[in-house]
Amino acid sequence: MHIKKQRLLTPGPTPLLPRALHAMMASDIHHRTQDFIRLYPTVLADLKEVFGTQGDVLITVSSGTGALEASVSNFFSEGDKVIICSAGKFGERWVDLAKAFRLNGVVLKAEYGDVVTPDRVKRAFAENPDAKGLLFQASETSTGAAHDVQAFGEICKGTDALCIVDAITGLGTMPLDIDGWGLDIIVGGSQKAFMIPPGLAFLSVSAKAWARAETATLPRLYFDLKKEKKMADKGESAWTPNVSHILALAEALKYIKEIGMDKLVENAQLLARATRTAATTLGLELFAPNSPSSSVTAIKAPAGMDSGEIVKGFRNHFGSIIANGQGTMKGQIFRIAHLGYFDFADLFAMVAELELVLHSKGVPVEFGKGVAAVQKIYAEAALKA
Ligand SMILES: *Cc1c(COP(=O)(O)O)cnc(C)c1O
Repeated sequence: MHIKKQRLLTPGPTPLLPRALHAMMASDIHHRTQDFIRLYPTVLADLKEVFGTQGDVLITVSSGTGALEASVSNFFSEGDKVIICSAGKFGERWVDLAKAFRLNGVVLKAEYGDVVTPDRVKRAFAENPDAKGLLFQASETSTGAAHDVQAFGEICKGTDALCIVDAITGLGTMPLDIDGWGLDIIVGGSQKAFMIPPGLAFLSVSAKAWARAETATLPRLYFDLKKEKKMADKGESAWTPNVSHILALAEALKYIKEIGMDKLVENAQLLARATRTAATTLGLELFAPNSPSSSVTAIKAPAGMDSGEIVKGFRNHFGSIIANGQGTMKGQIFRIAHLGYFDFADLFAMVAELELVLHSKGVPVEFGKGVAAVQKIYAEAALKA
């Protein structure tokens, strides 16, 4: 019997920032008292600073999908045409949402592991000049691929369409110039790079989007963003918030501001690059080699092996939790996250574990080869600093 610490290496939930976790204990404050009204505007202001926008940033008490729903129900009317880029399970969620709210979705599909190119989006707008929105993932968490957010934003700029980005694993893992690139709605989630438990989602809303909200007629109540904004301006939330999460978020945002959002992004990028190098050094193949995201790396299981065996190996031998593929990718790939509170030591451990798990399955592995590749990257990139 050996001690096995649980290590979360999944793209949501992610490892929790200890001081954010401790802050959750102080949740015995009422949300309609001065104690809360002192706290909430600070959190909103810090969130806006970390997002890096002059627009509004609002909080919904929900998982990420709640905010995705809000970004549909608040800005469209029945029958509106929207262009949807679908490159994985989360792209399919946009398709489902558009269907549920009776939008007319024009779907640009990419094979799993691939992305929709800006050229295809441009062509879709040329063929559908009446499109009222473009919906896509910044980082498609199910495949580990990233879209060209800047190019998509620029395409929307000259049109009537709102650029709506599921950046739930994009925020904190890639540069996102919300105002400069013309991103009208950016959605984030607490359990990703924000280092706190699931239960909150965030949305930035541009002036262009607010103008559209004036004429949008889809039904909404709990996720009525105009109501949310009116209450936020008074320092309150529309409904009873999960106060414990707001306290945790306050601490996490302080931490992110201390290190800098750009450094958080750099951290994810460096860890992602090192993970890709370790995987290929060990003879494994990447699932999205052409446009890899820095939030999560998807790696193919060795030929003839079910990736679930690797997931199980991590859990049973080390207590580490990695993600299997979703949908038809289940059994084909495994996914390792780098978003939020991850460091190089996590990566050294993960790669050493991977070597041992592969070895246990009879895959020939030279112990230390992957770890050395990661150490080399650390030595070159970070040791000098
Ligand atoms: C995690 C995630 C979501 C949100 O999922 P919830 O379970 O609703 O929080 C949406 N999109 C992407 C790309 C994600 O990674």
